Amino acid sequence: MRPHRAFVQSIQPELEISGREARHLADVLRARAGDVLTVFDGKGLEGRATVLDVDSGSVRLKIEETWVASRETPQPVTLYVALLKGDKLSDVVRAATELGVAMIVPILTQHCVVREMAESKLLRLRRVVVEAAKQCERSLIPEVGSLLSLKLIPSVGQGFVAHPGSSARVRDSFDPDKPTALLTGPEGGLTESEVELLETKGFTPVTLGPRILRAETAPVALLSLVTAGEGF
Ligand code: SAH
Repeated sequence: MRPHRAFVQSIQPELEISGREARHLADVLRARAGDVLTVFDGKGLEGRATVLDVDSGSVRLKIEETWVASRETPQPVTLYVALLKGDKLSDVVRAATELGVAMIVPILTQHCVVREMAESKLLRLRRVVVEAAKQCERSLIPEVGSLLSLKLIPSVGQGFVAHPGSSARVRDSFDPDKPTALLTGPEGGLTESEVELLETKGFTPVTLGPRILRAETAPVALLSLVTAGEGF
């Protein structure tokens, strides 16, 4: 079995893990002195660690070696995703993390049914991202931004907005050497004026095929075109 991956704030020769991660190691994985695990700091560094001792609520580790991990896309990909009903954004951020996204920003659009995002929901999304990053062995934890109005999205060097009315394909103009921004709309879709505004900010409207995908499927499909489909 591969060693367990633990997220730590920073990698030092000796360090102590506490809180949720320590309880998981101690109670669920039954870590014992001498066990080996992999640590990652969410900023691109990984290391091999030996457990020195396990106490109630804390686990002390000794770092044996460190390395710079390379499971990240060559250029960062930002996903702007419309606020969705219920807990659907959790599924989106989980899948987006697996697909290599660097940053996820929930956005408010004209047809969003839900109009605000509670702090607790943002914190939950950030936890989901950490769990997903561990599971898929990423070394970088994607950032989850707070809710942003579509109007306030900054101009981008390369961007794609999924729009059922478009016939252009991502692969017609995607340049893998540039940072990429992606955007998908809510259950009720984006308005034509929103798509026009996004075009002025550098987003190209693209198709995801002739079927209408659900608002939680579209971001995953779009993202996979610029990461998984490219082997990134
Ligand atoms: N009734 C809405 C459908 C919204 S689907 C409409 O007609 O616009 C939710 C979001 O998923 C859309 O805003 C779009 O960003 C994306 N999407 C779904 N299916 C798509 C497709 N076939 N091509 C491009 N984008 C799509």
